[in-house]
Amino acid sequence: MKAGDAGAKRQAAWLSPVRPFVDGQAVPSSGELVLRPVNPSTGAALRTVPAGVAADADLAVASARRTVDGGAWSRAAPGERKAVLDRWAQLIAGDSAALDAADAVEMGKPVRLAAFNARAAAGLVRFNAEAVDKCFGAVLPSDHPSTVVQMRMPRGVVAAITPWNFPTYNAVLKVAPALAAGNCVVLKPSELASESAFRLAKLALEAGLPPGAFNVVPGRGETVGRALAEHMDVDMVTFTGSSKVGKLMLQAAGASNMKAVLTECGGKSPHIVFDDGLDLDLVAANIAATLSANTGQICSVGSRLLVQDTIEEVLTHKIVACLQAIRPGDPLDPETTYGPLASQAQLDRVMRYLDAADQDGADLVHGGERILEDAGGYFVQPAVFVNVPPDSRIAREEIFGPVLAVLSFKDADEAIRLAKDTPYGLAAYVWTSRMDVGFQVSKALQTAITVVNGQAQGTLGAGFGYSGEPAGLSGRGVEGGVAGLESYTRRQTVWFNHG
Ligand code: NAD
Repeated sequence: MKAGDAGAKRQAAWLSPVRPFVDGQAVPSSGELVLRPVNPSTGAALRTVPAGVAADADLAVASARRTVDGGAWSRAAPGERKAVLDRWAQLIAGDSAALDAADAVEMGKPVRLAAFNARAAAGLVRFNAEAVDKCFGAVLPSDHPSTVVQMRMPRGVVAAITPWNFPTYNAVLKVAPALAAGNCVVLKPSELASESAFRLAKLALEAGLPPGAFNVVPGRGETVGRALAEHMDVDMVTFTGSSKVGKLMLQAAGASNMKAVLTECGGKSPHIVFDDGLDLDLVAANIAATLSANTGQICSVGSRLLVQDTIEEVLTHKIVACLQAIRPGDPLDPETTYGPLASQAQLDRVMRYLDAADQDGADLVHGGERILEDAGGYFVQPAVFVNVPPDSRIAREEIFGPVLAVLSFKDADEAIRLAKDTPYGLAAYVWTSRMDVGFQVSKALQTAITVVNGQAQGTLGAGFGYSGEPAGLSGRGVEGGVAGLESYTRRQTVWFNHG
């Protein structure tokens, strides 16, 4: 057997035929057009995926609506919902190797990377299972002859539209709270990486979720995604992806039935590093690790380094030294720390920004070269630029790749001004040994999350309890924690006049 045949067998082992999953079973797409996604590590064709048509979305929405109206899930006792979700979490944890492998084959995330992997997704489901009976309404103060009760009701049919960057985790981030709140869901995963969505739906069925409570429709954004966003019988659309498409979600809701919209979009998050005594080796290791994790394809990646001018050179050197230690290769190999970009389109995008950085006058001090080209995949070295003009494209626009723009500042005021000089408001990382500086800078920024001295625990430890609300082009609405679960409920007041 040739090496190529072995590789093809290895990738095929993690994939299954992709078809809409409606009412608890696979059904054919109503459309004939197909997409041909490739393995980004090798450029080899994976298998065909339906391009999808609006009729596929209609079928799934009708199934979700019937299930909502039937009440088997939406009116189930909280304890029952909790038990099913808890079983789902166990099944996801048990299947985590296959889920991680599917994501690795489809979009290049190394199986070694623990952040936002399938085990973390299982933890997130468990959190939402435990939160089912911790999301409650209120009895309001009222005059004696009345009692006013404010309840939290499921919204009904929730359409979830997700990106390719952490396919398993991002799907669960939407579906778990939506189900925990009693909704029925139609998930449209990214056309680049849809395998894990089907595995998750089948596991949910096995856990005892009623058929029709979690449907999956594969296909393109412009077909299935758009049909869901514009659908008159969808009560909420929950979206993660680019700011450009996030805006379309708001427009589609306005042009259809004014459905509720939750959007989590792009970012241009800064690391802000002060020269006040922190261990710069630790800071550099952290910045390099997150820039290279998932090949920089993380919405909250620190892609701008704002550093106090006195330590700019030394910190930049240390970061470059850490980046030289990446181990690029096959994402299925547990030794690989650095995978490819997810697609030809992502590669083209990153290469365009590397050119733009050059045109805008920034100086490349590390990386930016294609690597492992013989393997046929979309590998590019992490890149670090210094002397970056604050108004240049790499300083202001989301690249969604492993590119770091270094800018220097003199004092906290200048750091804050630079940090706020983008249209985004997703995350920020402040590095300082002074508590007052940490609070001063954090409070001045508009972000969903600001982390002082480290990365967010994120998917580890107690990290599931936090909620965030992005600002600007990073989206709108609350995701995460109990408040994030509440986003999937509607407040409804019942006013009893009982005399
Ligand atoms: P994308 O916006 O291109 O696609 C996201 C999803 O929307 C996909 O399922 C796609 O098929 C669908 N879509 C595309 N066009 C559509 C349309 N016209 N109507 C309806 N649906 C449509 O984003 P992507 O390239 O898949 O992912 C990268 C982006 O996601 C980055 O901008 C990144 O910052 C963002 N992201 C944000 C978060 C967060 O939590 N803020 C997390 C992960 C990724």
